This record gives sequence, C-alpha cells and structure tokens, in this order.
Amino acid sequence: MDKLKFIDACELPTPWANFSLHAFLEHATGKEHLVLTLGELTNYSSVLARVHSECLTGDALFSQRCDCGAQLEKAMQNIAKHGCGMVLYLRQEGRGIGLLNKIQAYHLQDKGADTVAANQALGFAADLRDYTLCKELLAHFQVSNLRLMTNNPAKVKALQNLGIIVSERIPLITGLTPHNLHYLGTKAKKLGHVIPKHLLSNQKNAVC
Ligand SMILES: [Zn+2]
Repeated sequence: MDKLKFIDACELPTPWANFSLHAFLEHATGKEHLVLTLGELTNYSSVLARVHSECLTGDALFSQRCDCGAQLEKAMQNIAKHGCGMVLYLRQEGRGIGLLNKIQAYHLQDKGADTVAANQALGFAADLRDYTLCKELLAHFQVSNLRLMTNNPAKVKALQNLGIIVSERIPLITGLTPHNLHYLGTKAKKLGHVIPKHLLSNQKNAVC
C-alpha cells in the first residue's frame, strides 16, 4: 500500500452482527480510516458494500439534518442480513470540507442557503470528496467488484474511474425526515442523487 498503512483489526459487535473492524493510517494526512467487514469477502464475485464518508453529526450525534446516520445503519443492517459485505468508512467529513467548515455551512443553511450554495459561499466546491483511497483499501481485502449501496451516481462513476468494478448500484432510501427533505431535494437537484420524487414532494410542510 502506498498511501495507507494497515494498523490492526478487532471484533466489533453491533446490534445487527459481529463485524470485524480494520484500521488504516493515511500517510499524507495522518487520518485514520476504517473498514468494517462481515463474512468471507473472497467467496463472492461481487461484494455488497457501502463507501461512507464521515459525518460526525449524522453518524454519531443523531442529526436529522442529513440522512448519513440512517444510511450507515441501513447499510450495516443489509450486510448483516446478507451475511457478508463491507463498509469503507472514509474520514472526509462534510463532503470533504471538514467538521468546522460544515458547522459554518449549517449556520448559513439556518439562514436560508441550501447545502450546495452554503459550501460555495464558504469558498468550497459543492463536493470535495475523493475516493482514491478505496482502491488500496479494497486491494487489501482482495476485492475489486462491488454491489454498491448508494443513491449517488457520481460516487459510482468515481469508483469506476479508479478501476473498481461496480456491478450494481443498490439504492439506499432511508432516513427522510421533515428536517432533511429540503437538503435531500437539493442533493437530488444539484448533485444528481437518485431519490424518488414522491418522497421529496412534501417540502412545503418540511420544517415545522
Ligand atoms: Zn450527514
């Protein structure tokens, strides 16, 4: 591995299954990236997987501003049900702008900006996420072909551009709340996420 160093692995019991948790260190940034696995990945020609970018507020603090926590939970449940799969947990918070900038972007959103406009107002591109590390992480597990759980076609394309085969995109529609309907509508409109329109149609009553 060029960009990463494998550090160690341990068991991670969760409400849905006993996963293995693998820890990696990124040389360039000192960031700690994680991979959760379940079952014998190499037994499958295509592995059920989620590539999840860190969202501290959604993943750990139950934020209803976004759907990240619900998506992570659903992905882990799907893997547990299937008996095999992996979650690549990448430490690129706030679509790559970092936690503190994300809080500032949230403040702008509190005042009416949408998620894309807020990032741009702070001088960032709408989406700075980089999936390059996935290549090395997957190679570590001898995996090159994924059934990817995502609503984001741009993520599928980014992985394919790295030479990773995505044999199937599995929608992960979950976690819609009155607080994030507008946010998800913006992701659908401006970032190309595939979310069924009828689920987004309640926007008028969204913030009550
Ligand atoms: Zn989030």
